[in-house]
Amino acid sequence: MPKTNTKNPNIYENVKRQFDKAADLMGLDPNIRKILAKPINEIRVNFPVKMDDGNVEMFSGYRVQHNNVLGPYKGGLRYHPKVDLDEVRALATWMTWKSAITNIPFGGAKGGVQIDPFKYSPSELERITRRFTFALRQYIGPEYDIPAPDVNTNSQIMAWMLDTYLSTIPPKERRCSIHIVTGKPIESGGSLGRDKATGQGVVFCIEEWAEENNFDLNGATYIIQGFGNVGSWAARLMKPHGAKLIACEDVTGAICNSEGIDPDELTVFVKEHGGVKGYHGCKEIDHETFLATKADIFIPAALENQITKETAPILNVKMVAEGANGPTNVDGDEILQKRGIHVIPDILCNSGGVIVSYFEWLQNKRCEYWELEEIDTKLHWKITGAYKRVHEKVEEYNTDWRTASYIVALSRLEKVYKERGIFP
Ligand code: NAD
Repeated sequence: MPKTNTKNPNIYENVKRQFDKAADLMGLDPNIRKILAKPINEIRVNFPVKMDDGNVEMFSGYRVQHNNVLGPYKGGLRYHPKVDLDEVRALATWMTWKSAITNIPFGGAKGGVQIDPFKYSPSELERITRRFTFALRQYIGPEYDIPAPDVNTNSQIMAWMLDTYLSTIPPKERRCSIHIVTGKPIESGGSLGRDKATGQGVVFCIEEWAEENNFDLNGATYIIQGFGNVGSWAARLMKPHGAKLIACEDVTGAICNSEGIDPDELTVFVKEHGGVKGYHGCKEIDHETFLATKADIFIPAALENQITKETAPILNVKMVAEGANGPTNVDGDEILQKRGIHVIPDILCNSGGVIVSYFEWLQNKRCEYWELEEIDTKLHWKITGAYKRVHEKVEEYNTDWRTASYIVALSRLEKVYKERGIFP
């Protein structure tokens, strides 16, 4: 396992610092600032699950609902040993900003179970998922709070959640409730293009940046941290541009090949072997060497807090496209800015996932199935629209892209709160 930053120096503090910077700069209404500074609901459930050996284990799961003024709470569920309330608070808050930036009618939420899913058999994981869903059932709903996949969860987990949730409601309501989760398998009501959506959104953002900066992606080099859903799709979608993946790191280790690593072949290898370590034709490198690899673009697509005051000085790239949530903390950000390394921030760059989740939700509500071309076109339109709105705020406030993204989100939320007022 690489020596990546697996500690969690309170990412919620990081979110608060990002929020304060943007709120100060734009002069956010002080009352609305108070409302947005705290999540609306924080749910913790402890639940028992019978293991394969007949013993019972207790698990802790979380769901934080940050804000729903723009629409139902929306956000993924993560299975990871590091999941705790502060992490989920931070991730839920970012979801509110993401929906607001992209102009989709959702709020922000996030959840997770504090487990190492690789320690459990598939049938244990199924029972953990079903029991967690059962424990959460009164707090979620297709028009109220809609989970989706995140780190170590996937369409199979969503299918189990869907099935469990539907079993808890009256039969007559089941057919019209399949939008309780997004990121489902296609056959169970999922959307074409949802699996690749986040990676696709990352690549659409990189294309925008390249066009604005007259940068030729053909022959450009890039490195990726995390080769799961987001990382592997981003890499596969960079390939048609002629860009070259020269180093990749995941939980098993880091590899490099200056001649280029084929993302499609690496995806097949990772599916078979569980990680990038051992992929043919590559040299194994340590974490520091991976981060110091000279390339044009870095796509962090693993976990938070990877670009910090310790690691930002050693990066050797022109641009960072944040596929992961929170890969750069505030100290790391300041160093990247001083070094002139452009950052496309997470709440913009990885918003493709929630955008296509919205499309899935709409298709379910209307009993429709859209073609992939239609989904890709709409995703492109939504995410490039958000990109342009953020760019306008960069110019207007003469600020960095993360702060500008916050200002886009906070301005929209402020407007809605002012229009609707505060009850009573
Ligand atoms: P995933 O579980 O499919 O993949 C995670 C990847 O990160 C794996 O390759 C894993 O090996 C790697 N990884 C884990 N710990 C690591 C470590 N310590 N060092 C290096 N690599 C490590 O998860 P995902 O869905 O691809 O999510 C990745 C990131 O993208 C997360 O921050 C997630 O919140 C964010 N994100 C995901 C989506 C989505 O649609 N799945 C949407 C928006 C944002």
